[in-house]
Amino acid sequence: MYVLNLIGFPLRLLLPLLASYCEHRPPHTMPRRARNFFIKLTYFFKQFFDPSRRAVDSNGAAPQPCMSAPKQPPIPLSTHATALLSQPATTAPPSLPLVLPAPTTPAPAPRDVEPTIIAPISASSRSPAPVPPPTSTSDSLPPTPSSQPRHFYAREMFHNAQGIIISNSQFIDASHAGSGLERLLKFSMPDAFHDSGARYPPPKCHLGTRNEYIDLITNWALEKSNRKEPILWMHGPFGVGKSAVAQSCAEALESIDKLAATLFFSRSNGDRDDPRRVFTSIAYQIATKCPSFGEIISRRMTEHPALATKSLSKQFEDLLVQPLGQVDIPGSGLEGCVVIIDGLDECRGTAEQCEMIKIIAASVDKHTTPFRWFITSRPEDPIVRTMNSSTISPVCSRVELPVSRAIDHEILVYLTDEFKLIRKDHGFPESWPSEEVLALLVERGAGLWIYVGTIVRFIKDENSLGPEDQLRIVLEFAKDVSGKIGPDNPLAEMDFFYTLIMQRVPPKVRTTVQKILLVHSVLSDDPSYVATALRLSADQLRRACSSIQSVMELQGSDLNSMEIQFYHTSFLDFMKDPQRSKDLCIYSDFLIRCRRELLVWLHEVCSRSTDSEHIVFPLGTVLPEGLSSANHYANVVAWFWGLCEVPEHPLDSQTATSLAELPFKKMLGLLGDHGELGIYDGQARDNLPAEFRDKIIREGRCPIPGCMNTGKVWILGHGENETVPRQWETLGFELENNQGLRNGKCICGAQIRRGRRPISARIARVAQFLLNTLP
Ligand SMILES: [Zn+2]
Repeated sequence: MYVLNLIGFPLRLLLPLLASYCEHRPPHTMPRRARNFFIKLTYFFKQFFDPSRRAVDSNGAAPQPCMSAPKQPPIPLSTHATALLSQPATTAPPSLPLVLPAPTTPAPAPRDVEPTIIAPISASSRSPAPVPPPTSTSDSLPPTPSSQPRHFYAREMFHNAQGIIISNSQFIDASHAGSGLERLLKFSMPDAFHDSGARYPPPKCHLGTRNEYIDLITNWALEKSNRKEPILWMHGPFGVGKSAVAQSCAEALESIDKLAATLFFSRSNGDRDDPRRVFTSIAYQIATKCPSFGEIISRRMTEHPALATKSLSKQFEDLLVQPLGQVDIPGSGLEGCVVIIDGLDECRGTAEQCEMIKIIAASVDKHTTPFRWFITSRPEDPIVRTMNSSTISPVCSRVELPVSRAIDHEILVYLTDEFKLIRKDHGFPESWPSEEVLALLVERGAGLWIYVGTIVRFIKDENSLGPEDQLRIVLEFAKDVSGKIGPDNPLAEMDFFYTLIMQRVPPKVRTTVQKILLVHSVLSDDPSYVATALRLSADQLRRACSSIQSVMELQGSDLNSMEIQFYHTSFLDFMKDPQRSKDLCIYSDFLIRCRRELLVWLHEVCSRSTDSEHIVFPLGTVLPEGLSSANHYANVVAWFWGLCEVPEHPLDSQTATSLAELPFKKMLGLLGDHGELGIYDGQARDNLPAEFRDKIIREGRCPIPGCMNTGKVWILGHGENETVPRQWETLGFELENNQGLRNGKCICGAQIRRGRRPISARIARVAQFLLNTLP
């Protein structure tokens, strides 16, 4: 014992450092195996050398269900991206910048309460990486309720790597390094700034177009117009060019030092729609513009790192109003600067959209910030109602950006320039295309920029017989569609054009394209997840995506660096709406069919496979080179679950019956080390027919023998298929391997009562031992 204590003393000194390192370091910056190893090691030594700990355990102290560090924020999708041309740019996109924009992941949420015991393999030591702020922060934000289901994965540093050896490593605790501004940046959305690399080249007005609106807005900003209200709201339907106007205004105001901050929301492009990162993003940009504000905010973020995770109104108060109160505004150059928020309707959650408007309006009413606010959005009902309310109306001026034939001449200028570039590239004569053709295209575009831009990309499609043939298809389409919907209905015509784009994809590839769009919508916008779920190689994914390159772009050379970008949100909206896309729709029948197919597949895999090392797929399943069975299986499980959560499509009785019979325990066990999906509670349960809910997902007392948890846990399946998944703190559960107890803890996170096992368990254990050892 003396020797043990001799070893134990220095170890006890080292342990807090080691523990702090392992727990605070973001999981994606350290190989999971190494991290788990250190945590296990730490736990082991704590168990071994800490007498108080041993006493607590043997006395059967009150269990601490799910005692774990706060979860990490979502692992960011890499942010190398391309432009979204909601309105065409003047020149062909140049090559992408080499410098990647800064990652958008928040820093690890700080702990409000430091647990004195390290959870051996707590949920936090693995890394499904949800957003939640520390659970003990009273006003921390819950996951955005009105959003689409969002799932969170961890990315492993050495994905699928085996036999990792770490030698001569030097680990430095960098969790508190860096200034408060760096911390703030991690809680921001830099990809949504007007000058971000992810939006490069940004959609902006073709030279000489939209001057009327740009002048109107800049004059309002400079207080040179009759519009005295400090908020200006520009509304108009999709594709009319709001973002392009906002971008042009941002650049114009920046050139005269009148721009405070910008945010360009995008629902269909990764990490640019998070309401919780709006005021942090604005505060960060102001901090980079005004050094005295920057110093104050940096200090605040260092002293109170949880500020960035508070509610929207608290963030506004703590990150903008209070720091600005300490700044000499007249000398700061901030007075009258403009904050531009583009595409508010694309921010996640209508309640959050409206709350933001109210917070901003209250601020301008009380003069708590020195800014003018330019906001654009579609005229969605909740936004219109909020803008029309009696408190906001007096401080808000409005501009409509309609679909208007008044801009025909601007569209003609744009088309002329684009065709000039195509002629040059292909050596076509000056006479191509004829003036009649140009006039017809302007006529069909009928003032909708996104339509005209999509037509141009369609004509340029590299996977076609060439621009002449593509133009011929457009002209035939125009003739055909004009008979169906008449003139001047570009929104309806846009749908017909999207239909044409999808119909021109060969049927076999089309189904794959639909599945890509579906996985992108319900599971992840990360191409590597999409490809793994669908058993596609990088090359196959690229080919499929290039078949619809008029509406989307796949950047990057390999799966890990690829990014999917949509030119305009309206395409995915179209593909999800069965009224608009009819039999091409990725929701509706297509989704239901996929869900059933996946469920049949899961049943078959569960019945054929023995364990996660021996997953057996149905006959004829071919995996592309480099894709492991386990990875594919894990992503299919995640995809299937995502499909079960789509609120527009509750499960029918037939599917629910089959789901209730799924061997959940085995399904999770087969995940091995691969599944890492956090499931918000209730989402899938709400989608089940009432009579099936308790058979598939329910909350109840932990059924594991000896478990000392007194609270409720999530339970999957029923009867012999019943299993307790890993619990995800207070948020839900995790689709992960849940086999076995870890270090005396139940799978639900609580302590297991010590003592003699029941006789049946002991017999089973001996039998298993004999089976394993006998030849
Ligand atoms: Zn339990």
